[in-house]
Amino acid sequence: MSATSSVVAGRAVAEPAPATHVAGDLPPITDLSLADLGRLVAELGQPAYRADQVAGWLYRSTATGFDEMTNVPGALRRALAERYRFQALETAAERVSGDEETRKVVLRLPDGQLVESVMMRYPQRWDGTGSDRATVCVSTQVGCPVKCSFCATGMMGFTRNLSSGEILEQALYFLRWSRREPPVVRNVVFMGMGEPMLNYDATMAAVSRLVHPTGAGLGVHRLTVSTSGWLPGIERLAADPLAVRLAVSLHAPNDALRDTLVPLNRRFPVADLMAACRSYQRVTGRRVTFEYTLLDGVNDTPELAAELSALLAGMDAHINLIPMNPVADLPFAPSAPAAVDAFHAVLRDRGLICTVRRQMGRDIQAACGQLRAEVRERGRGRRSPQNGDAPAVTDVAGAR
Ligand code: SAH
Ligand code: SF4
Repeated sequence: MSATSSVVAGRAVAEPAPATHVAGDLPPITDLSLADLGRLVAELGQPAYRADQVAGWLYRSTATGFDEMTNVPGALRRALAERYRFQALETAAERVSGDEETRKVVLRLPDGQLVESVMMRYPQRWDGTGSDRATVCVSTQVGCPVKCSFCATGMMGFTRNLSSGEILEQALYFLRWSRREPPVVRNVVFMGMGEPMLNYDATMAAVSRLVHPTGAGLGVHRLTVSTSGWLPGIERLAADPLAVRLAVSLHAPNDALRDTLVPLNRRFPVADLMAACRSYQRVTGRRVTFEYTLLDGVNDTPELAAELSALLAGMDAHINLIPMNPVADLPFAPSAPAAVDAFHAVLRDRGLICTVRRQMGRDIQAACGQLRAEVRERGRGRRSPQNGDAPAVTDVAGAR
């Protein structure tokens, strides 16, 4: 990765450097599907196994340039370098939490836009059991058109979809890092900036290269796509041969409350969303995760916990209670620990599988969109809200 970043445990890092790529630059080779890479290598007059070798360097090595592909003939390396750049993303800032369990990076796209990705580490247990492993959380859009009321990314508005290579490279960034030292990256969650279902094709193209043995070779069941409730996406995922897991950001068990938190709910209300989730489960046989961010005095009462249990009755569901990460300028606060415990207890007593997500990396702005917002402000001066940034949620149908 580029030398424009520095890492400081738990503290601020580098100012963003100016974008080095301009329109007209070479496209990144990571945007090519494995089939396209095979065709390219054939067009360049090389045998098919060379494509697998190139893919090995792209997806399963620590290489960051064509010149490092030592088992690939120089002529092929040069031909590739004339047509493509090795990677699209460069590092703009990186932070490690004080406890070193969360590593967050802001990556710059070829057009100068910034996105962020996080690696969360789950160390060996105190008794030496379990492995030192990590989950990587990647972004799928620059900003997000859904504009949930407690989300830093939603506040930014929507700029554009990421390409498959731009999504994939975020995971590769941490995979490269984990090949040099522990932890091993096992899971990838599409829970960073943006709504993956509104960028379905690029997201699933990235998934396909992450799980293919000639790509990064991760287990498909270790990948989770999270959605705020874009029904057409849930329906497509149910029929998709790539068997990734589904997480649904619910945050409220009824329309009156969910309408105020997730604007998309006005278009796809709770009953329709639940019907789609049940149908997804019937078709795939897979457990569905429901994320529920606990907001102080808003959605954290025992009555709402009871309503949530009734809503999920009979489903193979896992509820992930997320302590809110505070976002500057937003009128929400994390629930008190006693309220989190009481909410959890109601769900548990009714037999639901429920975990409270460990609060990770709060000292490094690890919540969705927060560090990226800070890097932007530091680099360019505080940005005022731009109403023209994104279509209203009810207009995003065309983005499917
Ligand atoms: N757009 C998708 C995936 C990205 S958001 C979705 O909404 O599911 C990933 C998760 O982070 C969502 O469950 C979202 O509700 C949650 N989230 C957003 N802002 C948060 C905050 N300030 N604190 C805690 N969780 C937050
Ligand atoms: Fe978009 Fe997800 Fe944030 Fe909602 S929570 S604004 S869907 S990124």
